[in-house]
Amino acid sequence: MLSGLMSLVVVGSIAFDAVKTPFGERERMLGGSAVHFSLAASYFTDVRVVGPVGDDFGEAEYAVLRRHGVNTDDVEHVAGGKTFFWAAEYEWNLNIRHTLDTQLNVFGDFAPKLSDASKRADTLFLANIQPDLQREVREQSTGAKLAALDSMNLWIETTRDSLLRTIATVDMVLMNDDEVRMLTEEPTLLRSARQLMQLGPRVIVVKQGEYGASLFTGESFFSLPAYPLETVIDPTGAGDSFAGGLLGYLDAQGGADDDAALRRALTYGSAVASFWVEEFGCERAARLSREDIDERYEAFRRMTSVEGVPAA
Ligand code: AMP
Repeated sequence: MLSGLMSLVVVGSIAFDAVKTPFGERERMLGGSAVHFSLAASYFTDVRVVGPVGDDFGEAEYAVLRRHGVNTDDVEHVAGGKTFFWAAEYEWNLNIRHTLDTQLNVFGDFAPKLSDASKRADTLFLANIQPDLQREVREQSTGAKLAALDSMNLWIETTRDSLLRTIATVDMVLMNDDEVRMLTEEPTLLRSARQLMQLGPRVIVVKQGEYGASLFTGESFFSLPAYPLETVIDPTGAGDSFAGGLLGYLDAQGGADDDAALRRALTYGSAVASFWVEEFGCERAARLSREDIDERYEAFRRMTSVEGVPAA
């Protein structure tokens, strides 16, 4: 809708989340990695979301996606089924999250099937799902010029080989600091990134929570802090909205071929994620504009530039 030319498809969870933080709680709110991602990416490009939902997923939930222009034609409604449910609680240190419940429901038998329009999308994001499923989607996605994936500790522990095989099929990996180290068993991020690049991907993005994010390519390194916020209410979806901003921007501007574009994309991802954590789940998106995101992008630029040392 925004670019008219490019398009991005995301495959991942569509969920109801119950989340408790030291600052409040929600018993049931719209969530899921594909939802956070697609809402965030919708500020930059045309987005299609692929994932299963059950009968409890109603008009109100579809409306949140559609208000953002997200195409829901490939959302698979499983008659008689229940939507994926996840419950978590955060400690005072919001970096520490305890998962209390995961009910796969319709996600348990999910066999992704992309429509022709989704197969043709220029950019593909494989959100955090079982790596065999990610690979099936990657194989269907014949039009993708840029494919990226996320993963999590569960898949590193239970399906490591499959995850490594899936990583070999994408151009970009976006993962958490701890998970990258766990996967590669390397002591430094640079060595971890190199090891992952040897499998195939050209770009490795390491998410470091409240400490920011780092970008590794064959030739260069770039890093940004997280935006300094007075108040963080709920970190849920920070990683997915970061990925949405990053890949949404790359899709809109035609790919990830140059380093300058990747740096701008990392900055946009960080800007979007900084808004996401200011409210529960994806609630902040209801009042967020592209202008707000651009303003924070500029704040990042001011915050991170360093002058040369004046001549003595
Ligand atoms: P993040 O905070 O970026 O890690 O993402 C949180 C989102 O991931 C929540 O909205 C959950 O619904 C979703 N989620 C949690 N666990 C899983 C899982 N095992 N598979 C897929 N999605 C999940």
